Amino acid sequence: MTKRKTILVTGGGGFIGSHLCERLLQEGCDVICLDNFFTGSKNNIRHLLNSPAFELIRHDITVPISLEVDAIYNLACPASPVHYQHDPVQTARTNVLGAINMLELARRLKIPILQASTSEVYGDPNVHPQPESYWGNVNPIGIRSCYDEGKRCAETLFFDYNRQYGIPIKVIRIFNTYGPRMLPNDGRVVSNFIVQALAGKDITIYGDGRQTRSFCYVSDLIEAMIRMMKTPARVTGPVNLGNPGEYTVRELAEKIIRTVGSKSKLVFQPLPQDDPARRKPDISLAKELLDWKPTVSLKDGLKKTVDYFRELKENNHG
Ligand code: NAD
Ligand code: UDP
Repeated sequence: MTKRKTILVTGGGGFIGSHLCERLLQEGCDVICLDNFFTGSKNNIRHLLNSPAFELIRHDITVPISLEVDAIYNLACPASPVHYQHDPVQTARTNVLGAINMLELARRLKIPILQASTSEVYGDPNVHPQPESYWGNVNPIGIRSCYDEGKRCAETLFFDYNRQYGIPIKVIRIFNTYGPRMLPNDGRVVSNFIVQALAGKDITIYGDGRQTRSFCYVSDLIEAMIRMMKTPARVTGPVNLGNPGEYTVRELAEKIIRTVGSKSKLVFQPLPQDDPARRKPDISLAKELLDWKPTVSLKDGLKKTVDYFRELKENNHG
């Protein structure tokens, strides 16, 4: 009989992390979920707490920790611009010190470690769509830098730990992912628009709404993450993971209004500094390495996400 694997998921109480914990439990793993609950919520993992295979540790990854595990998924870091800009120094510390602490753990245990990196490493890209070979166009001193440069430095650390100490690394660059368990006050575009549409409030478009993003439903991302961890040690990434369907923010707003059946109006507000104009992943590498491509359309994904937020709203109102 093969021994059950114990997997550490940092940021496991967050949006993506909670779906990953759930999936790893389904795969027959023991899961240690580590989170400081800055942007995560116990509600995301409450249904897992009774499982004997699931453990929760409240901890901040900027502080070293010693655990015995077989693999690490490092997701701990606020992902919404509103939240990562709230305490930018802590965001940079989480990305850099957190990465070092998790890499040191992986080094001691000689285990694989996956880094949840981001399309933000491409900044406001001059190359479209973005392949992994593109080095990006990032402002190193702007309000997004704590996140963008923090994640870039984390990638550097991952590759140096791999070259210097030989630890197996897996770096994925996640493009805008959405789905149930995003926080209603998360500040990201999909959750903001759905919450506004459900409340019949104005939909806040930043800028003229012609900027584009490519939206991946969370179950598609989780499938790719699991596949990535199973690749041989020579596969380090970075690998783009996302859905290449590209939409303007205005198109997204209109789709959400239709899905909700809302009478909300569009209002236009100032575009935040350094907001990328266009973003779309080139996922050729992920297709080749992981035999993976997204399967959930924006229409179906939005419907599931709207259903989630509608239920949340109804429960909160009694
Ligand atoms: P999220 O904010 O819901 O989850 C992040 C989790 O990390 C939260 O539970 C938070 O409490 C926890 N956390 C933050 N700082 C921590 C610290 N110092 N120590 C311990 N826990 C800490 O965001 P998400 O969308 O689930 O993102 C998960 C990961 O994926 C992040 O690393 C993010 O940068 C990356 N990512 C997400 C997207 C996306 O579109 N959702 C895109 C690119 C990259
Ligand atoms: N955005 C918007 N209204 C909102 C929230 C976001 O128009 O209420 C825009 C934002 O300016 C950006 C896009 O939607 O152009 C995606 O924003 P998000 O914060 O979700 O992610 P990121 O900018 O990190 O891709």
